[in-house]
Amino acid sequence: MKSHTQVVVIGGGVVGCSVLYHLTKAGWKDVVLLERDELTSGSTWHAAGGMHTLNGDPNVAKLQRYTIDLYKEIEEISGQSCGVHMTGGLMLANTESWLDYLKVAQGRSRVLGLDNEFVSMAEAKAMHPLLNEERFVGALYDPLEGHIDPSGVTHAYAKAARVGGAEIERFTRVTDLQSRPDGGWDVITDKGTIQAEHVVNAGGLWAREVGRMVGLELPILAMEHQYLVTDEIPEVAARETELPHCIDFGGEIYMRQERSGLVMGTYEKGGVPWSERQTPWDFGHELLQPDLDRISDNLEVAFDHFPVLGEAGIKQVINGPFTFAPDGNPLVGPVRGLKNFWVACGVMAGFSQGGGVGLALSSWMIDGDPGLDIFAMDVARFGDFATMAYTNAKVRENYGRRFKITFPNEELPAARPLRTTPVYERFKAQNAVFGAGYGLETPLWFAPEGAEPVETPSYRRSNAFEPVKEECHAVREAVGLIETSGFAKYEVSGAGAEGWLGEILANRMPRQGRIVLSPMLNHEGKLIGDFTVAKAGPEQFFIFGSGIAEDYHLRWFERHMAEEGVALRSLRNEMVGFSIAGPKARELLARLTAEDVSNEAFPFMAFRSMALGMVPAWVGRISFTGDLGYEIWVSPDYQLRLYDDLMAAGADLGLRHFGLRALDSLRLEKGFGTWAREFRPIYTPAEAGLDRFVDLRKNAFVGRDAVLHDREQGPKVRLVTLTVDAEAADVSGDEAVWHDGAVVGWVTSGGYAHTVDRSVALAYVPNDLATENGSFEVEIIGDRRAAQLQPEPLFDPARERMLG
Ligand SMILES: Cc1cc2nc3c(=O)[nH]c(=O)nc-3n(C[C@H](O)[C@H](O)[C@H](O)COP(=O)(O)OP(=O)(O)OC[C@H]3O[C@@H](n4cnc5c(N)ncnc54)[C@H](O)[C@@H]3O)c2cc1C
Repeated sequence: MKSHTQVVVIGGGVVGCSVLYHLTKAGWKDVVLLERDELTSGSTWHAAGGMHTLNGDPNVAKLQRYTIDLYKEIEEISGQSCGVHMTGGLMLANTESWLDYLKVAQGRSRVLGLDNEFVSMAEAKAMHPLLNEERFVGALYDPLEGHIDPSGVTHAYAKAARVGGAEIERFTRVTDLQSRPDGGWDVITDKGTIQAEHVVNAGGLWAREVGRMVGLELPILAMEHQYLVTDEIPEVAARETELPHCIDFGGEIYMRQERSGLVMGTYEKGGVPWSERQTPWDFGHELLQPDLDRISDNLEVAFDHFPVLGEAGIKQVINGPFTFAPDGNPLVGPVRGLKNFWVACGVMAGFSQGGGVGLALSSWMIDGDPGLDIFAMDVARFGDFATMAYTNAKVRENYGRRFKITFPNEELPAARPLRTTPVYERFKAQNAVFGAGYGLETPLWFAPEGAEPVETPSYRRSNAFEPVKEECHAVREAVGLIETSGFAKYEVSGAGAEGWLGEILANRMPRQGRIVLSPMLNHEGKLIGDFTVAKAGPEQFFIFGSGIAEDYHLRWFERHMAEEGVALRSLRNEMVGFSIAGPKARELLARLTAEDVSNEAFPFMAFRSMALGMVPAWVGRISFTGDLGYEIWVSPDYQLRLYDDLMAAGADLGLRHFGLRALDSLRLEKGFGTWAREFRPIYTPAEAGLDRFVDLRKNAFVGRDAVLHDREQGPKVRLVTLTVDAEAADVSGDEAVWHDGAVVGWVTSGGYAHTVDRSVALAYVPNDLATENGSFEVEIIGDRRAAQLQPEPLFDPARERMLG
């Protein structure tokens, strides 16, 4: 075994081997993989081997397609067969809701260039004669589905990596990791120590334990998973072609042919976690005790949907564990606070996702950027709120919902409430319907008095539609109050604060008492953040950003921190806020303060401290509603007092609560984009319409050279506002945008813009089609709806309300 290397990859499952292969492919040859046993000794060896492109996040779906396409390449390099059976796959809907789901999935996959197509039930039956067509209402066929040999794939990656120069040490267990003063790691094994510049944790079933070696508690948990293999079935044995892979959503089962029989697996409701606190190091190639009782409900449906199963003998029942993150997507990337430590774990579909994970991670390690939009897989999407117990509750929930629809307006109940602000109970008493972001409960909308505060999950307009409309009108006609505590809040202070912020943010910094909006760019000039920056004192700034991206942004800030003179801290637990917005917002504010808050004394984008009643607060004249409005920030111990005073002072002004759904509707009327929807690391500021917040007069800031280069080229796509001739359903994101019979763009977000009475979609379309009278079609649940580009904001294009 070597004593020094550039990278140690811990774990010889499909994921570790893929990372190893991709590192060598990208040119890093001095890389070593350590495996405590034989390759495939974790979850990998007993996988059912199914592969598909379907994923709720289109960026992950793209990487699944990449993974499937990769098998040919690694077979050629390694000479090792992956055992690919590209049978195609049927996704079967037994209810109208599932049919909607498939229509939505098809619309999304069109954007990725995938050609799934609906087939009639007669065609489905012809492809898969064992199904009972009377039980289904529709079927979507995906040619890029099938199954592989898990061991073959893993060894193909491993051999291809060896061809590229990698070394693999089997039967070598990593027992500890110690950071070195030079930023590298001492990797201590039962066979000696290797010094490595970088370490990758691809420990699969033991990734948690490997994380603990460096003080990390990764949010992953293994669940038991069962599938059964039938004896020979004559109808299968008699076939000349292989049956397609099948997902039966109603039965919550997946199925494929295995020799002359079938493999059938299910994700049952009361799933059972495995080794909740500690994975035993001596767990090897053994299986867990089968428990068919647990899946008997699913089996009953399966026998009804595929009658031949009821007759077939069972040859083997496999029960094996594999790991999940709380939302079911992988955990990939560098870990905040640790140098040169990377994770590639929590991969629940290694044969659909392993290639993409390897590609993204190796690019990140070598180029400093994953090169793709992988926020849905980024380990930084979970902060310290994702404790072991939180993870346990969420993973169980997610497992049981693997083949369940999660509607775009649906909030899942497990592990809630977790984080709350003091005003939570007040909102609850007002019939708030809450959503959770980064573990924090925030009102989405307020149900009418006497009604259950519950939203009906749907692709169509829900029972929230009318109450949200009223909230929007209250804002535009009088004044509304919303909690803004869910934003991420940071304080940057010290003699070097302004200089440092000027380097990492693209806009100029504000003068004291003022606010600016600023994108943050990576070195490729792509958007990795959009912030509100307020200068509170000569050496003090407050930065407000996306709440769900707090760890993501802190990781970047910390990695690009100035050597001295700058203190950065998150104010997550120290600052809570409200926004008041609407034409009467100023009057409401004035009632609580002795300060002059007239437009002259406290204009748009002003920021200052003031006492509101008895409460010391920071107040900014800014509002995401696009209306006259203020953001008010206080420490949590003052929040209730402030809330009660605002509510009392606003009663005769028509003050009403509004929630995040109304805020979303109001910002659509202004065409305001938001982080993680319109603003993501695949867009440039010019594409996202944020050019005016990039100050090229500054000599240096991260991404400046790339912005200059992009300006010469011109933007490829452009963010536009479309009004859509929608009826009962609005867009929810990721829908296809059509023009002249072809898919040309995609929706990032949208919904109903209540006070202008239009259905709205924000979308990226090719720059040359983003003309003043551009007309398009937007696909909503399988229907192509006419959509018209709006060159100006639908509400207050002259910005009179905001500035007045
Ligand atoms: C019953 C079942 C059916 C499945 N069906 C499918 C399917 O149809 N399609 C699909 O895509 N996925 C399926 N999966 C999931 C799939 O198996 C996983 O996604 C995949 O195996 C994860 O691979 P991995 O490399 O991350 O982890 P693992 O396979 O667990 O590999 C981790 C490796 O790291 C090694 N290791 C850990 N710690 C150390 C250490 N300290 N030192 C040295 N080595 C270490 C382990 O020995 C192990 O070999 C299934 C899983 C199960 C259990």
